[in-house]
Amino acid sequence: MEIQILDKQFSLFIPSENILNEVQVLAKKLEFDYKEKNPIFIIVLNGAFMFASDLLKCFRNSCDITFIKLSSYKGLSSVGTVRQQMGLMVDIQDRHVIIVEDIVDTGLTIESLIKNLENQNPTSIEICSLLFKPEAFKGNNPPKYNGFSIPNKFVVGYGLDYDEKGRNLKDLYQLKTE
Ligand code: 5GP
Repeated sequence: MEIQILDKQFSLFIPSENILNEVQVLAKKLEFDYKEKNPIFIIVLNGAFMFASDLLKCFRNSCDITFIKLSSYKGLSSVGTVRQQMGLMVDIQDRHVIIVEDIVDTGLTIESLIKNLENQNPTSIEICSLLFKPEAFKGNNPPKYNGFSIPNKFVVGYGLDYDEKGRNLKDLYQLKTE
């Protein structure tokens, strides 16, 4: 199936059912690994909102949930600098932190966030990302919890946008290359 968003054509990449199956697997892993640990999930807005919602509905242990808003993308590519548009509102000292991301691409966003959070002395920090692009990754911390490793192509849907459009799509789409 193909769709048009603004000036670009996208084709169906990962259907909703496959996403939801994988999200359940991730939630069960987290439940097991963080038993009795009362972790705090930091959800990176905007892109991770849909993933986080499905993930946390399947995570049935005690936890806290908070949000942070970062951006490094404009259109189809990263601008390289990570801006924090909404900071962390809670104390994470001595807490087990799980960062929930939609996608780890170059890893710049996550590296800069981890550095920032480490200053606040949490007990541990791990990344849970729905998508990971290993070919684009330049960082030192690949996500410990990862749904799908995908090729280095722009994707949209399930929370991820193309110029703020397409976030509401329940499936994931990939940019069509001519
Ligand atoms: P990084 O800093 O790892 O290069 O990029 C992370 C952020 O860039 C993600 O949180 C996401 O907002 C955005 N991003 C990276 N790759 C894609 C992509 O293929 N599609 C969309 N829509 N956003 C992406």
